[in-house]
Amino acid sequence: MTADLYCVMGNPVEHSKSPWIHARFAQLTGQDLRYVRKLVPLGGFAQAVQEFRAEGGRGCNVTVPFKFESTALATRLTPRARLAQASNTLRFDGAEVFADNTDGVGLVSDIARNAGVDLAGRDVLLIGAGGAAAGVLGPLIEARPRRVVVANRTQARAALLIGRHSALAAQHGVALAAPEIQEVHDDFDVVINATASSMAGAAVPVAAGVLKPGTLACDLMYGPAAQGFIDWAARHGAVARDGLGMLVEQAAEAFLVWRGVRPPSAQVLAELRATLA
Ligand code: NAP
Repeated sequence: MTADLYCVMGNPVEHSKSPWIHARFAQLTGQDLRYVRKLVPLGGFAQAVQEFRAEGGRGCNVTVPFKFESTALATRLTPRARLAQASNTLRFDGAEVFADNTDGVGLVSDIARNAGVDLAGRDVLLIGAGGAAAGVLGPLIEARPRRVVVANRTQARAALLIGRHSALAAQHGVALAAPEIQEVHDDFDVVINATASSMAGAAVPVAAGVLKPGTLACDLMYGPAAQGFIDWAARHGAVARDGLGMLVEQAAEAFLVWRGVRPPSAQVLAELRATLA
């Protein structure tokens, strides 16, 4: 029997740590699978998925810039993928394409399990309104913070995003707001940078006044590009965190979707940090 085949599709994809993470998950859980990278040409996502399925692929992770297209291909969507309008995990069940978004639950797991912060009752600032922010807002709301303020360079996108989540927020008793980014003057218990500012080498797009001593400040970016945000947060008394924990936790959730087994993510995160140090 050949090992079950999975991949990550993206453009670029060379930098992806997913093959390493899933190979380690498979070793630790005794699962027989092979996980490869697929560089997909822009405009070629649907064809790449078709070819991968024809090759025997059982599922794939989807990264920039295809998370929206992967949702359009799905025949079945989880509620969190539907709310995000983006998916990072596909599973091929016969003729069916099942799509999920594990980014948000990955971030919330990293904050709760690895950073040890309970989001319930907290004030949260989510910076950004792109694919990553769309993926994390629903699971953030489900963690029942007191309020979530979504601030984005283009305010209209943040307004759309909170509009889509208003019923969920009401259900969980969470206040939502989307002010102009330069109008954010309060401080927060948790600040999440879900913009591409770090990737672009740009300044953090909010004033340092959003931080107070002990604020948990997370950038979804990891590696050297996250250092500017980490230094900014630490300089202002916050507890800084990069996106590596989210990366491993979203992968663990995808592994669960595919294999029905939850891998030991904290161990794999520690090993990955040691490998990258
Ligand atoms: P995206 O859909 O392209 O959205 C980009 C977002 O960043 C938008 O809100 C955009 O604002 C904002 N932005 C871009 N450049 C900016 C700048 N110079 N200053 C202020 N805001 C800026 O990208 P995405 O998929 O959301 O990804 C965002 C980040 O999350 C990336 O760094 C990605 O690597 C990271 N990520 C990490 C994980 C993980 O597992 N750790 C998972 C997913 C994503 P406008 O709306 O105004 O354009």
